[in-house]
Amino acid sequence: MKVRVQIIVEADDDSPPSVHEVAQVERTDLHVDTLGLHLTEAKDLRQNVQEVVVAEQVHRCLDEQAACLACGRPRRHKDATTIVLRTLFGTVHLRSPWWWHCVCRPQPTRTFSPLAAALPERTTPELLYLETKFSGLISYGQSASLLAETLPLGRELHATTVRRHAQASAERLEDELGPEQPMFIEGCQAEWDALPRPDLPLTVGLDGGYVHSSQQRSRRDGWFEVVARKSMPSDGASKCFGFVQTFDRKPKRRLFEVLKAQGMQTNQQVTFLTDGGDDVRELPLHLNPQAEHLLDWFHITMRLTVLNQMAKSVRSRDNPNLTTELGQELERLKWYLWHGNVFLALQTITYLQLDADCGDDSSEQRKLSKAVAEFGGTFAPTQRRYQAMASGFGPARPFPARLSSQPSIRWSASAWSRSNRCAGHRVGPICSSRSAPAS
Ligand SMILES: [Zn+2]
Repeated sequence: MKVRVQIIVEADDDSPPSVHEVAQVERTDLHVDTLGLHLTEAKDLRQNVQEVVVAEQVHRCLDEQAACLACGRPRRHKDATTIVLRTLFGTVHLRSPWWWHCVCRPQPTRTFSPLAAALPERTTPELLYLETKFSGLISYGQSASLLAETLPLGRELHATTVRRHAQASAERLEDELGPEQPMFIEGCQAEWDALPRPDLPLTVGLDGGYVHSSQQRSRRDGWFEVVARKSMPSDGASKCFGFVQTFDRKPKRRLFEVLKAQGMQTNQQVTFLTDGGDDVRELPLHLNPQAEHLLDWFHITMRLTVLNQMAKSVRSRDNPNLTTELGQELERLKWYLWHGNVFLALQTITYLQLDADCGDDSSEQRKLSKAVAEFGGTFAPTQRRYQAMASGFGPARPFPARLSSQPSIRWSASAWSRSNRCAGHRVGPICSSRSAPAS
């Protein structure tokens, strides 16, 4: 059996359609390995179709401009060059004529090339998109191999080309990004109320981590902090992204644009979960008037565990029971935090510091005292209320069902905005939970 694939090109005028044969497939017996098109046949087919379609498009483009659009006089031919264009389905070589401009009207140049004007880029956007997308997932070399394996690229694709294209795409996106702003909330409550009904709440988790150089010579040499985020709409795909806090000049704008791309409206509920660190806690402020800023319970317990381990190494000549007392204080602190009692939690932190300072003047005692002070600083700027929640994006246990129905004592930015927006107050709402810890 022989299968022939033809393309029929129908012109806009009354001229008869032209037929181009682009592929032939021959098959005899039916086997699983002879079923349908092979990869090489599919690549050849797509390349041949591409060549015919491109040739027809170029022919039509040149035909339309062969005569002066103003007076209809045929243009004079000056020269011709070849344009090489990389497409998803092959590298096409286009003969690009240079024509003299018609003298009926003044022109900035004496000659021009209609194809060069229509095709200023040498790589099609779809090929750039795939190169950039794959290079974000795997190495440049593997991206090039994968694309060459599946697509009839027509010429060898080098890793450096993929890298250059990814870099150019990134720079273009960077240039298109708007300026950094301290606040992205626009409008007033009346405008937000007039918006269409928003989607279900959006949850955004932010976390920071340190990357150390393998060749670092000192503790502070060759490391940087990476902030990673995951944005999870109630329905639809979640989106992960990250950046280097110290390098990125528009972190807030970047986060805002990602949320906007996911359809965030100013009347939509957005929940930001952070570990309470200064940098990641400041970042999501003033992005959405309905936003809630919550602390991630996993990070709180992680820090409490570290404090517990530090407390076990503190000794006091005057108080042999100091380690036990510190452990009890920390357990009490955890209890208060889970129940949203920031007042007593901060009081316990003060007691902890006093107790830690009672220890012998050793490095362990100083470390514990410093760590307790830093931990207290996580809550001190937001002494209203806070809510500790277990997030679904960290290594902690998944979102407990009983936490999904939150208590009524929430302090949302919208309430703040209605009452204090013009007073220039900061948005720093932290809410409270009434559920007991599972462990
Ligand atoms: Zn003319």
